[in-house]
Amino acid sequence: MIDVDQAIELELRVRDLIEEIERDLERAEATVKPPGKLDGTEGRLSRQDSMLHHEMAKAGLRRQRQRLTALREALVRMDKGAYGVCANCGDWISWERLDGQPEAHLCGTCAAR
Ligand SMILES: [Zn+2]
Repeated sequence: MIDVDQAIELELRVRDLIEEIERDLERAEATVKPPGKLDGTEGRLSRQDSMLHHEMAKAGLRRQRQRLTALREALVRMDKGAYGVCANCGDWISWERLDGQPEAHLCGTCAAR
């Protein structure tokens, strides 16, 4: 179980992370555009390369959005007083785990299953 000081620290960190990811996403969405129209002069490899980069950037954005959702859900749990409790078994999630991943909603045992 986490104490009040730890709960405050985690809430501040979750809020900071949300702001940080929102900023990152805004910036990234402005730069990640589909590969430009091809005029036939670029080589096949460089075209594949640019498509690959685009796919990787999109996958990165998807991960960031998922984390943002998880962080917002963590804030909701904090408001409800349900934060830090495993959504599966109801046990307390360890401080070590929340410290590394403040959006965690499962204890280490359930997450490993
Ligand atoms: Zn659990």
